[in-house]
Amino acid sequence: MKVLVPVKRVVDYNVKVRVKSDQTGVDIANVKMSMNPFDEIAVEEAVRLKEKGVVSEIIAVSAGVAQCQETLRTAMAIGADRAILIETGVELQPLAVAKLLKAVVDKEQPELVILGKQAIDDDANQTGQMLAALLDWPQATFASKVEIADGKATVTREVDGGLETVALTMPAIITTDLRLNEPRYVTLPNIMKAKKKPLENLKPEDLGVDVEPRLKTLKVAEPAGRQAGIKVADVDTLVDKLKNEAKVIK
Ligand code: AMP
Repeated sequence: MKVLVPVKRVVDYNVKVRVKSDQTGVDIANVKMSMNPFDEIAVEEAVRLKEKGVVSEIIAVSAGVAQCQETLRTAMAIGADRAILIETGVELQPLAVAKLLKAVVDKEQPELVILGKQAIDDDANQTGQMLAALLDWPQATFASKVEIADGKATVTREVDGGLETVALTMPAIITTDLRLNEPRYVTLPNIMKAKKKPLENLKPEDLGVDVEPRLKTLKVAEPAGRQAGIKVADVDTLVDKLKNEAKVIK
């Protein structure tokens, strides 16, 4: 069984992002970029399925600027067999990515696509769902456990206040939640090996997909700064302020 794993290059999760002074977006010049953490979990899950003998080939795919190649090399260092870069300088929105991924699915015919549940830069949580709709495939989002046997995937999903287990017939879409697994560290020998793995370079035009943005970002703003706190003289003043100023107790 072939698995496709879409991986997005995003600002590293340890970086404190800054909004550009003209409020058009986030400043990514000279900022450390990494693979979206949920996508690392997706690659790890695909590799574990391959180690169990359920999966025969893992294809990592990334859409965006030429530097996404680094993200794809990381995916191959974790264990993906080959990679596809869909290179474009256009700012990609989830629908455009879903259309590109649909075109890759049509070409590669995988039986499973494992995506991250959301990209930590746009926090959209849309691409997997849109891809499932475009392909008319069943989907299990927010997966915390995946089992595959006899052409069926049994997926435990993290839902509010509990867990839900669903069964899907393949081909299917799964999106990963944080607790699905802990991705392995990438070792130097595997980084070296990944350099030799095949990386195909495509353009959106090669896949016949129009990636022009459908939404316009009007403004990006920092969260409001917290106001300075004060020290109160005694408990009575504190209770008075909580009652009459903050109005959080009666
Ligand atoms: P989003 O809908 O933007 O929150 O992204 C959800 C998931 O879709 C990510 O975790 C990735 O698996 C996939 N994805 C989104 N954008 C891209 C991209 N440009 N290239 C590859 N995969 C992507």
